[in-house]
Amino acid sequence: MIARSLTELINRRQRSLKQTQAIQRSIYDFVLRNSPNLKTGQFQKISNADLGMLFQITDEQIFDGLLGQLCERSSDRPLSFRLSTRMTTCGGMTTMQRESRRGALPEFEIAIATSPLFDTFKVDTAAKVGGLVCHNRLQALQRIMEHEMLHLAELLLFSDSNCSGSQFKRYARRHFGHTESNHRLLTPSDFAKKKLGIAIGDTVCFEVGGKSMTGIINRITKRATVLVADSKGTKYTDGKRYSKFYVPLNMLRRK
Ligand SMILES: [Zn+2]
Repeated sequence: MIARSLTELINRRQRSLKQTQAIQRSIYDFVLRNSPNLKTGQFQKISNADLGMLFQITDEQIFDGLLGQLCERSSDRPLSFRLSTRMTTCGGMTTMQRESRRGALPEFEIAIATSPLFDTFKVDTAAKVGGLVCHNRLQALQRIMEHEMLHLAELLLFSDSNCSGSQFKRYARRHFGHTESNHRLLTPSDFAKKKLGIAIGDTVCFEVGGKSMTGIINRITKRATVLVADSKGTKYTDGKRYSKFYVPLNMLRRK
């Protein structure tokens, strides 16, 4: 019954872009008024509970609360929200997990990546998410949550979800005005390049136990992977031997 109502709503509801934007703005204002952490659009801290609040108010305003209700009916556990410090390239991720015991209902989780959200606005004044220009963290977070809510809706209704599919794109445009399925927030390597001027392939110096080392950046996530030439190290595809170091980005200097 709830599934049918949500299917009907998600396929049929029509709003003008202006109406959608007014709703999104009212959700933005609601969160700032009610969250203990999010006091300005460029918030400095956030909790799992803030994600829950944003989900709930968006669900009420856009889907008449049906998404949350359907999720509750379809799962053994309440929908969970998580802030991820480890996800660095995607803005968010919605997962459906089923325990192996027979008759178990699936469990759903929405995870939001914190580092793209926080890092981007340390160096930039705007970034596109879902094709829409966002001027601060809360706007970007809203667009990411909207995207993940559509993943959740597709998972609940069709047991599968794909944001490069035409159905997803249609829903994203219809309900949230999104014109793209990706985000242009900064990944750690974008951030390292903009903020510190370092990039993969650069020769860098760093210190280990008072000893100065020189190596080449091989990878950038939360830390940089630096390869230092070492006759006792592992052989790499270029035929040379290296030792691998994981170095916090702020401890690197360009050579
Ligand atoms: Zn997606």
